[in-house]
Amino acid sequence: MTRRHFDATITHFATRLATEHTTLSRVWLERLDALLDVDRRDVFPTHQLLDHIPDLLLEIAAYVRAPADQEIAANTAVMAKATELGLLRFDQRASVHQLLREYQFLGEILEAFFAREAAALGEQADATAAVLAVARAQQAVRELQRRTVDAFIARYTETIERQHGQLRSFGRLVSHEIRQPLGVLQVLTRLLQPAEDPERRRLVDTLERNVVRLGDVAGKLERLARLTRRSDSAPNDQAVDLTAISRDIAVQLADMADVRGVTFDIADGLPLLTADAGRVELALMNLFANAVKYSDPAKERRYVRVAVDTAAGACRLRIEDNGIGIPAAKLSVIFEQFVRVHSHLDDELGSQGLGLGLSIVRECMEAMGGTVEVESAEGQGTVFVLTWPPGSWGAAETPSRT
Ligand code: ADP
Repeated sequence: MTRRHFDATITHFATRLATEHTTLSRVWLERLDALLDVDRRDVFPTHQLLDHIPDLLLEIAAYVRAPADQEIAANTAVMAKATELGLLRFDQRASVHQLLREYQFLGEILEAFFAREAAALGEQADATAAVLAVARAQQAVRELQRRTVDAFIARYTETIERQHGQLRSFGRLVSHEIRQPLGVLQVLTRLLQPAEDPERRRLVDTLERNVVRLGDVAGKLERLARLTRRSDSAPNDQAVDLTAISRDIAVQLADMADVRGVTFDIADGLPLLTADAGRVELALMNLFANAVKYSDPAKERRYVRVAVDTAAGACRLRIEDNGIGIPAAKLSVIFEQFVRVHSHLDDELGSQGLGLGLSIVRECMEAMGGTVEVESAEGQGTVFVLTWPPGSWGAAETPSRT
């Protein structure tokens, strides 16, 4: 085999690939299409993708022909196309997994194409050149894939940060806007004359209780906005009495728990914890409220137990309920924002939510250098375990929770 023979084989592969690039793009698309169910096939963005894939294949053909002159990563036009593809697939709500699979198909289709071309060339094919051509094509696919996935992830991160910012300013806005009308309501309820009629008295009591509750909610929102704002600043550690703070939260949730017949069982003498009291309270408030909200009406006795987990000698607190539980398949996503597993049961359970509580718990725990974990069995109950860094138990100062 001669050098000329070698070059001719490479040129043949590159030329054939350039000639067939539109057909191969269609084969690729058909393969993806075959994976989709009928409904998704209707919305699958065929045309937009067909703007990109043929161009990438042409570029791969050029790279197979002359990789040294045409370092694919240095070709800004084709790299821009690969970046554009990443952004397009992000807008189309694809996942990284899908992107990787799409590129994997492209690699497989090229391999099969080269195998066919080698067979067609028969004796005239230079084996080393054929192997090299496949290797170059795969190298180009990997490079393009890297660029597409990088662009996708960069856009993803950007979007999450923007949404985070929006959420924070929304929280601040809501707490601010709520304050003024709430102030008016607080004054007016104080001015209401004590009523003679028992029914009227009951209504006024309910009104008062709810105004106080709303005041609490506004306070919490403000605290949350402050906490998230100073999330990178120095920690605000102090001694937190876990028994006192837990009982306090249970009192705040008493109405909600009574309606659902849930009792709080808070161990005596829980240890003092050195941590950011505001964050501890926010995390516990969300977990206790969830344990009540997702209690199981079918059970005779419903409880929320709060105890220290001493197993590993670490600083761990267990919040255990015998509620409806969480399906195993959902456990990995419940800490993400806006994830709600039981929204279909809202009416039945009388629960409401935005799917933010557990993401706040996770954010609070991470800001304290700790973690939150969950174990659950559907129909039996759920345990959330909060862990603080070693050495967080105990405190030299006077216990305080404000
Ligand atoms: P939400 O506002 O919906 O309560 P969260 O972020 O606090 O949002 O919780 C996310 C989802 O996790 C809930 O919608 C619920 O389906 C599930 N969940 C949370 N805590 C419990 C629990 N103790 N028992 C059962 N399901 C729970």
